[in-house]
Amino acid sequence: MKAVFDPRQAAHDPQFFLSSGAPQPCPEKPARAEALLAATRRMGLEVIAPDDLGEAPIRAVHPERYLTFLRGIFPRWQRIEGASAEVIPNIHPDSRNAGYPASAVGQAGFHMTDTSCPIGPATWDAAYASAQTALTAAGLVQAGARAAYALCRPPGHHAFAESAGGFCYLNNSAIAADYLTGQGARVAILDVDLHHGNGTQGIFYARGDVLTVSIHADPVRYYPFFWGYADEIGEGPGEGANLNLPLPRGTGDAGFLAALDTALSRVAAFAPTALVLALGLDAFEGDPFAGLAVTTPGFTRIGAAIAGLGLPTVIVQEGGYLCPELGDNLEAVLRAFV
Ligand code: ZN
Repeated sequence: MKAVFDPRQAAHDPQFFLSSGAPQPCPEKPARAEALLAATRRMGLEVIAPDDLGEAPIRAVHPERYLTFLRGIFPRWQRIEGASAEVIPNIHPDSRNAGYPASAVGQAGFHMTDTSCPIGPATWDAAYASAQTALTAAGLVQAGARAAYALCRPPGHHAFAESAGGFCYLNNSAIAADYLTGQGARVAILDVDLHHGNGTQGIFYARGDVLTVSIHADPVRYYPFFWGYADEIGEGPGEGANLNLPLPRGTGDAGFLAALDTALSRVAAFAPTALVLALGLDAFEGDPFAGLAVTTPGFTRIGAAIAGLGLPTVIVQEGGYLCPELGDNLEAVLRAFV
């Protein structure tokens, strides 16, 4: 199995982060990628740089208006007298069908769902490189690889078609899935990150051709709060093509694996020809977010169960934050695909 990684991602180094209203260091650090990359090297995986497939496969998921915003907002923000060092929103519309302002401050509120996705000088280039990383891994699988690992940073699953959120700007998993669909594959996305894959769900919510399944901490008391409930099943042609499996805070291996069993049954029933695994590692018991309590041996079992589907699999890195076991947990999942 090959791993895909682009060192341009490292220049994205967000600083601003609020936790329960209090300023904290941003946990989505470049060092995450270093720890994950070290794990792939320990495993002896061949690490390759991504190809550049251009903006077309990104535009297939994210409208041009949003991409224009992401590309240009940082220099625009710098021209505002007294503005913050990074782009951070302070007002939001009650609906994305609201009016679209010309103002940089107004557009930031329109295109950012929270304060956890600050935009700095290197954010666009890193997000673009991260999307190309996922696309390259998808291309490897399309070309016949059993699996490929996309070491994506920034992550993507909280990014909707027109909005950033939760450390995410471009939805790498959705872009990979849509690309594979365009190549004739029937695709399921399985998201095992601690947090609900709200952006991914939103992108495919009205589509029946891509199945989206997410296992996550129950949003009734956890980020992203407004999405991830069991009654969100898709709409229109997408009705029945979205499955949410919220878990109580602190759920450990047994509860997670039981939900995974349900998820894998749904995936198998969809009869996909390819799987996109949105691989967050923050369900770990020692992750700084401390929402669930999966162990490292638990990740081994999770990887084995998912690999047991026997589907060509694009493994896209989502969350998972700095702790001594971060690389071990990645290795525990990836081993099943090697
Ligand atoms: Zn997460």
